[in-house]
Amino acid sequence: MYSKDRTADEAFDDLIRGNERFAKGHTTGPRRRPEDFRALAEGQYPEAVIVSCADSRVAPEILFDVGVGDIFVVRVAGNVIGGTGVTVKGSIEYAIAELHVPLIVVLGHSGCGAVKSAIQHIDAKDALPGAIDGLVELVKPAVIQSRGMPGDALENAIRTNVDLGVERLRALEPILAPRVKDGTLKIIGGLYDLRTGLVTLV
Ligand SMILES: [Zn+2]
Repeated sequence: MYSKDRTADEAFDDLIRGNERFAKGHTTGPRRRPEDFRALAEGQYPEAVIVSCADSRVAPEILFDVGVGDIFVVRVAGNVIGGTGVTVKGSIEYAIAELHVPLIVVLGHSGCGAVKSAIQHIDAKDALPGAIDGLVELVKPAVIQSRGMPGDALENAIRTNVDLGVERLRALEPILAPRVKDGTLKIIGGLYDLRTGLVTLV
């Protein structure tokens, strides 16, 4: 369990160190024993909010080598924020307003299927089945904005999708934006590489 007055920089250092352990195969699997979760039954003080993809390969607690109570995770395919309405934004706002979490990381990843799908279906007028279509629709602004950038189209769209999520959260009134302005909240973007296991800042 972390102290209530942990800063965004301390939280960030902890996550990055944990990710380095993970990538090297030196995980310590902290705070996963009965005495750890029992101590948390009365309350939680997570050090960061992680908004990540639902992809099975991008499990935040594992890749940051943290334990129960350490991170407040919001997972949704394509780590989309814009257009998601109350469920995603409300979950994030709860962690900030009620739990006073100092850091938010919007975490994209290499080879993201949701972004791939948005690229594939952006020009074809074909609708994807079920609610997948509406979800992929939310990723399309990142594809459009990243068009024409030098380099790999998928990588550019993945990075832009993270950037747009960060921008949106930094401007989100009335809970997040004022805290970003007064310095009590940091919002950053990260990219998880499926091959190396490393998270790099966007
Ligand atoms: Zn993904």
